[in-house]
Amino acid sequence: MTPSPGGRDSKGGVDSGKMILTLRSLRLCGKGFMGTIRQKIIDLLEEDARDARELSQTLRVPEKEPYNHLAHVAKSMNAKKKKLEILPFSCLSCGYVFKDRRRFTRPGRCPKCRDTRVEYPLYRIR
Ligand SMILES: [Zn+2]
Repeated sequence: MTPSPGGRDSKGGVDSGKMILTLRSLRLCGKGFMGTIRQKIIDLLEEDARDARELSQTLRVPEKEPYNHLAHVAKSMNAKKKKLEILPFSCLSCGYVFKDRRRFTRPGRCPKCRDTRVEYPLYRIR
């Protein structure tokens, strides 16, 4: 007996419904809203390296919000011949260095010691 990855329980359905509603209301409350935040993230990262926490505090958005934009920012950089870089960051417990991180989100735990105290990755545009 293996649980099927495509299996849906009713709880998951409710959550994704909520998500769609939130996205919809975000779009409704201002057309330029998403674009503005994205542009501000670009400006901030061109200026200096910052982590998602700093970005969220500067922009006054929830801490998860910058992650939603970073992938899009990275894509839009190709057209400008620039690059969104993730600087190497480490595990605060054992010092393991995350060098070739492709994903923008902060890892949940260290692959070496399994500790959850991991530094916030810094991003920058050059
Ligand atoms: Zn570690």
